Amino acid sequence: MKNTGKEIFSAIGEVLGNAGKVSIIPHENPDGDAIGAALGLGQTLANKGLEVKVISVNDYPDFLKWFSSDVPITIYEKDKKAAKEWLFDSDVLICVDFNEEKRAGHLAKMIGRFSKTKILIDHHPYPGDFCHYTVSETQYSSSAELVYDVIGQLGYTEYINTQAAEALFTGILTDTGGFSHNTSQNTFKTVAELLNYGIDTDKIQSAVFHNFSADRMQLMGYCLYEKMKVFPEYRAAVICITKEELERFNFKPGDTEGFVNYPLSINDIVFSALFIEKENYVKASFRSKGNFPANKFSSEHFNGGGHLNAAGGESMLTFEETIERFTQLLPEYKHLLEETVI
Ligand code: 5GP
Ligand code: MN
Repeated sequence: MKNTGKEIFSAIGEVLGNAGKVSIIPHENPDGDAIGAALGLGQTLANKGLEVKVISVNDYPDFLKWFSSDVPITIYEKDKKAAKEWLFDSDVLICVDFNEEKRAGHLAKMIGRFSKTKILIDHHPYPGDFCHYTVSETQYSSSAELVYDVIGQLGYTEYINTQAAEALFTGILTDTGGFSHNTSQNTFKTVAELLNYGIDTDKIQSAVFHNFSADRMQLMGYCLYEKMKVFPEYRAAVICITKEELERFNFKPGDTEGFVNYPLSINDIVFSALFIEKENYVKASFRSKGNFPANKFSSEHFNGGGHLNAAGGESMLTFEETIERFTQLLPEYKHLLEETVI
């Protein structure tokens, strides 16, 4: 780890050594890394004898529901009372895979109110100062890869078991798009070590990537055929999906996961955007190649952020206005898009 000093781990070790109950919170709309990192850490701490629950603000995709874990996941939106009780009864709160309180959605205020020790383990740039201990390492592919090294630094490696290793592998697998981006020597070293715990990587690949409903595949086909607009002059592409279209294809959480990546497979496209009409806002996702800063684009225009090549945000304009706004922004970025080296 580059930025995190050794002292922080002895302090965190002392806190966890004296703790009984632990809450782990991933970001809103949790993805494979958020759930994988949370469950991998949670299972390891549970194996050490701590009482752990993951509290997610909202539900997570079906393709992440195959984990066998001793750590329960409480969905705040479904059971507010149980989530609140466990959180405020906990001795420690660990936030994983997000860099600002607001990324926890309706749990953000409760994170603020939690008065005992708070720890952040994350790999996004620009971490906010909302926890007592912040382990923020942006060179990591995923929070799951980082969690594995944090477990090592804490001297807890002996508590990793198959279930924890499965969860951590899943986090790395999903955040790297099946080892296609953001990988490093440490990523593959971590994966090689996780294989020591008897995980079935074929089974996990299949559960994560080959587990879609027919509706989801048809929605994807529809989006690529009918909804994708390519702007070769800006090396960009956009897909926009309305609420009505999602309903037509019996949308379930997670169904649009990965759609934003597809336009980047087009020769010479370096920037891709996906806009999805939600109840009260429009959800935005951005992906880029090379040095085009998707996170800067998102923070400047769509109240969001994320990584250089993968960012998200939102728009309070109407769906049509949002798309128009995006289209109008492209000429402003023409120079930067043209210069992007891939
Ligand atoms: P996605 O497009 O998958 O929702 O998000 C891509 C990346 O950007 C993820 O790493 C996610 O954590 C981050 N991200 C998504 N939405 C937001 C947002 O509203 N604010 C910030 N700061 N990051 C976001
Ligand atoms: Mn992540």
